[in-house]
Amino acid sequence: MKALPPGSTIGILGGGQLGRMLAIAAAQLGYNTRVLAPDEEAVAAQTAASFTRADYHSRIVLDEFASAADVVTYEFENIDIEPVDYLSGKVPVHPSPTSLSIAQDRADEKSFVNALGGRTAAWAKVTTLAELQAAVATIGTPAILKTLRLGYDGKGQVRLHTAADIDTAWAAIGERPAILEAFIPFSHEFSIVLARGSDGAMVSYPPPWNEHKDGILARSTLPAPPEIARQWGEAATLTGRIAETLGHIGVLTCEYFVGADGPVFNEMAPRVHNSGHWTIEGAVTSQFENHIRAICGLPLGDTGLTASKVEMENLIGKDADRWANILAERDAHLHLYGKTVRPGRKMGHVTRLVR
Ligand code: AMP
Repeated sequence: MKALPPGSTIGILGGGQLGRMLAIAAAQLGYNTRVLAPDEEAVAAQTAASFTRADYHSRIVLDEFASAADVVTYEFENIDIEPVDYLSGKVPVHPSPTSLSIAQDRADEKSFVNALGGRTAAWAKVTTLAELQAAVATIGTPAILKTLRLGYDGKGQVRLHTAADIDTAWAAIGERPAILEAFIPFSHEFSIVLARGSDGAMVSYPPPWNEHKDGILARSTLPAPPEIARQWGEAATLTGRIAETLGHIGVLTCEYFVGADGPVFNEMAPRVHNSGHWTIEGAVTSQFENHIRAICGLPLGDTGLTASKVEMENLIGKDADRWANILAERDAHLHLYGKTVRPGRKMGHVTRLVR
């Protein structure tokens, strides 16, 4: 792929904070961005050069969007594959619709990773109550039932402590197609954020230790503790294999548990990720810049740490009210996403560096 020259236009599907930070990185490299999203409050539109507020299904809108863009990317994976497929017939779309469609379906994602030799929790796809009963008999409890599609931040999932929870769990996820997963007694969670260029070159970041609260990422810390460091190599190799097999172009994030026998793959996102926000100040090249570099055919940037310790704290809901205190801290970098506050909403993050 020939490098897109500065002044080219990147189309971004999705209007959230990931699109917002992608647009900032693109602007720094001299690109224009155009956001397409149906959201009333599309915070990506605040930093993009132009914004079309429309749903993703109008052919007129998609034709116009494709003709205005030199490359198209997306900032969230819960988008219908159909408009992405349609766009990819008109303009290069990176990462490809294949990466997107595998990441959208928990069963496809896990079988894909198992086929590549990756370790996952024991799992089974269930589409009926009878299948759930059979899966619990095989996998045992404790277990987690997750909707096949459209889950995020711990939504669309429920724990089964014993087989007596089967009926309530099935009702709780709305009797929708799902997967049942064995509960992994992990010591830590971490992620591998990797970028793959159009020439097949790959770089990945040192893994953060990710701590969650109420199903939402609360904190990412680097360098990670030894438990994670010991599993880093194997997880990075698997993530690279996934990216290569998909022919992925752009950032790919895989989340892992530290398991007793090695890293346990949990899920992947074909995009920049919350657990990579620390890279804006904590790495030589941010995940956002590397994504833009990858999809524009530019060489990828260095992923090394810029400080001896880096910590990213998510600002959820009213946490963002602390902005004045955070600004008063030395070596704290505040990012606010321009959203209206709601409980549980990701309002911003702060990255603290220890030099
Ligand atoms: P997910 O939506 O798959 O990322 O799951 C959200 C969170 O639930 C994860 O970050 C873990 O903390 C927890 N979790 C998910 N799957 C499992 C599992 N199989 N065993 C133990 N904890 C899990």
